[in-house]
Amino acid sequence: MTTPAAGRDTEPHESFATAQVQAGYTPGVPQNTAVTPIYQSNGYEFPSLAHARDVFALRQMGNVYSRNANPTQAVFEKRVAALEGGRAAVAVSSGQAAAAAAILALASAGHHIVAARQLYGGTVDLLSDSLGTLGIEVTYVDQDDPDAWRRAVRPETRAFFAETITNPLATVLDIRAVADLAHEAGVPLVVDNTVASPYLVRPGEHGADIVIHSATKYIGGHGVALGGIVVDIGSFDFGADPEKWPQFTTPYDRFGDLVLWDRFADEGLALIVYIKTRFIHDFGTTLPAWSSFQFLQGLETLDMRMQRHSESALAVARFLNAHPEVERVWHPGLSSSPWHGLAQRYLPRGASSVFSFDLATTGDPVRDDERVTAVIDGLRLIHLVANIGDARSMVNHPASMTHYHLTADQLRAAQISPRTIRLSIGLEDPTDLIADLAHALAALEG
Ligand SMILES: *Cc1c(COP(=O)(O)O)cnc(C)c1O
Repeated sequence: MTTPAAGRDTEPHESFATAQVQAGYTPGVPQNTAVTPIYQSNGYEFPSLAHARDVFALRQMGNVYSRNANPTQAVFEKRVAALEGGRAAVAVSSGQAAAAAAILALASAGHHIVAARQLYGGTVDLLSDSLGTLGIEVTYVDQDDPDAWRRAVRPETRAFFAETITNPLATVLDIRAVADLAHEAGVPLVVDNTVASPYLVRPGEHGADIVIHSATKYIGGHGVALGGIVVDIGSFDFGADPEKWPQFTTPYDRFGDLVLWDRFADEGLALIVYIKTRFIHDFGTTLPAWSSFQFLQGLETLDMRMQRHSESALAVARFLNAHPEVERVWHPGLSSSPWHGLAQRYLPRGASSVFSFDLATTGDPVRDDERVTAVIDGLRLIHLVANIGDARSMVNHPASMTHYHLTADQLRAAQISPRTIRLSIGLEDPTDLIADLAHALAALEG
């Protein structure tokens, strides 16, 4: 493991494995705790009123109140920034809050986003409904069609948005191609890297400008805490077209004549400070200290877990691919996958463990539905849970669960069939998981 992991503004670490355990924390208080403590305090004492005044006016950085920032959370932010090779990060209460904060920092009423139609259902809800109500329009495109991205651009476009590995079909984004198109349009590429994690791919190395995660999934890894994070890679120059980005380049209404880009561009903090002082401050989408601690624990084993998740999932995918009751397996590690080439290019360490398979059809939708039900209810080790990235293996029926809100047309466009079953392969012995699937599928035969 020799990949350099440190971001430009974070401490140097020799490798990813060292950064995932140590980045962002130096024992600095007299107790010298080796592990990052949980700072369970809502407020922070100022040594003097003069100091408080400086911190409130952003002349100096410091802790004010835990809705905005907490020292345990700050270590988590630095560590993920280091692992993604970014300049700075801001942690929030969920993946949804991360997507919302990233978009709201770039776009407001009258603006427009171009997004992959393959996006996670919750993100589609956010973009289409909640942000739509706020006056931000979205155009969905097939992420594999470069012309579609190009055609969708308008003068009001402020961001491109896509996932590195999509959920539930595990298609792989051509990050470089879409980043180039975004930059041609003068906007940043925001990428949701939840399913891959920075261990499998660092989108910033391929041109993405802002990387978000649902930390709820692989970063935490054990299904016990919700959280999200926005990482600013630092590659997008908001100062190059100041009229397009007044939120960064004109005086920030809340802080007198302070201009975020002038004050914070050198430190790579303009976007992050804006998100903290505006959206987290106003909406209260705070990541608790206790959850930050759980994510730091999760990160310490990220590389080992992602290797195991990826290897086991590929073994399960190969088993399913050879099964007569299975029509199609959506796993980019299979050489038959249309995304195999992109997986080889962007995911040489593995393709994570969320993927789907379509049961073979009988031609009768009612019988097909009974067969889907029989397989899912027949599983014993693989649990029916609407979550991914857990140590436990989980199954989900996208058409009636996570993607239930999508219309029939949207489902068809997303290539999710009523016979599509999603798996998130955990850390159990893959032989046991294959036996569980074999048993459940055997009920269909004869
Ligand atoms: C789960 C998920 C989200 C939303 O994250 P929450 O932590 O549940 O809010 C966003 N994107 C992807 C790809 C996800 O899997």
